[in-house]
Amino acid sequence: MDLEAAVRTSCVRSSRMTVFLASAFLVLLISLFNSSYSCPTAFESLSNGTGSNEGLNARLTRQIHTSASPLPIEGGGLTELEFGYKAKDGPATWPNKFRWCSKNKQSPININLDSSEVADEETIFFQNYNLIPQQISIVNNGKTINLAGTWNPEDRPFIESSLLEDEYVFEALHFHWGRNENEGSEHFINGESYPLEMHLVHFKRSYRSFPRSVNYIDGLAVLSYVFEVQQENNHHFNEIIEATNRIQNVKAQAELNPFSLHHVARSFHNDFVSYKGSLTTPPCNEIVTWFVSLKPLKIGVEQLQKLRRLKDDDGDLLVKNFRPVQPLHGREILFVPKY
Ligand SMILES: [Zn+2]
Repeated sequence: MDLEAAVRTSCVRSSRMTVFLASAFLVLLISLFNSSYSCPTAFESLSNGTGSNEGLNARLTRQIHTSASPLPIEGGGLTELEFGYKAKDGPATWPNKFRWCSKNKQSPININLDSSEVADEETIFFQNYNLIPQQISIVNNGKTINLAGTWNPEDRPFIESSLLEDEYVFEALHFHWGRNENEGSEHFINGESYPLEMHLVHFKRSYRSFPRSVNYIDGLAVLSYVFEVQQENNHHFNEIIEATNRIQNVKAQAELNPFSLHHVARSFHNDFVSYKGSLTTPPCNEIVTWFVSLKPLKIGVEQLQKLRRLKDDDGDLLVKNFRPVQPLHGREILFVPKY
C-alpha cells in the first residue's frame, strides 16, 4: 500500500537522522517517542470485522500486540460502510460492528462551558476561504449530503491554529439534522441541541490526502457550526438547498454554481471550543481535533424541511442523521471566549 510505504520511509528517514544527531541514549528515547507519536498507532481496520475481513482483523490485532511497525490498512475509504440511523442499524448498534465506536474519546459531546478550560490565547485562521473553486459537486450518499470542490492546488482552503501542528486542508462539508426543530445537531452546547449542524472536514497536509489521514491519530480537524431556525430563508444556502431537489435519491449527484466556502461558513478566531474526539459516523476513528463555533448560523424553516425530503439507503426519507452525545470520559474542552 502507498500509505504503508510512505510511512515506513518516513520512519526510516527519521531514525537515520536520529543516529547521526544523537547519542545512543537519545536514540532510544526518540525511538520510543516516535513509535508512540510519529508513526502509525495501533489502528484497527476501518472495515467492519465481519465476513471476509475477519482474517484481516485477526492479523491486525496480532500486530498491534507484537509490532510497532505500520499496519496494512486495506481500502482506507470511509464510504460504503453499512450503517444507518434506524433501530436496525443506528448508533446503538454501531459498536457491534465497529469497535472504535465504544471507545473513550468519541464524538459528539455536550459542551458544558462552565466546566471547560478557558484558553483565550488560542486561535484559528481560515486561509483561502474567500477563493471560489473551479467546480462544486454535491452528492446524496444515503447518510447526508456531501459537498466537495475543486480548486487550483495553491488555492485550496485550509485552516491553521495554535492548537494544530500543521495546516489542515479542506476536504468536504456535510450536514446533520433531525425529524423536527427540537433535535438535529450532534453537539449540544450547555445541554441544548440545535436543529442542524454543518461539518467542514479537513485533513493534515503532511499526510497528503483524506484517505491517508484517517489512519493517524492527528489526521483530521473538523469545523462545526450549529444552526438556529428562522422564518425567512438564508440565501447563503440557496444553492445547496435547491440542489437537494436534484439529489433526492441515494448516489444522485449535482453540480453547483461555484461559491467560496466563506459564502456558507464564516470564519471565527475566538468564541469557539476545541477538544479531541472522533468521527461521528462509523468507523468512529478517534482522530479528530474538533473546533465548534459557539455562534449559531441561521437556516430557514422551509430550507430545513427540504433536507428532510432526501432519501436514505433504503429509499425512506432521511429525516434523522445525528449521533447522540457521547460520554466525555474526563477529556478537557478548551474554551476560547469572545473578545
Ligand atoms: Zn458530520
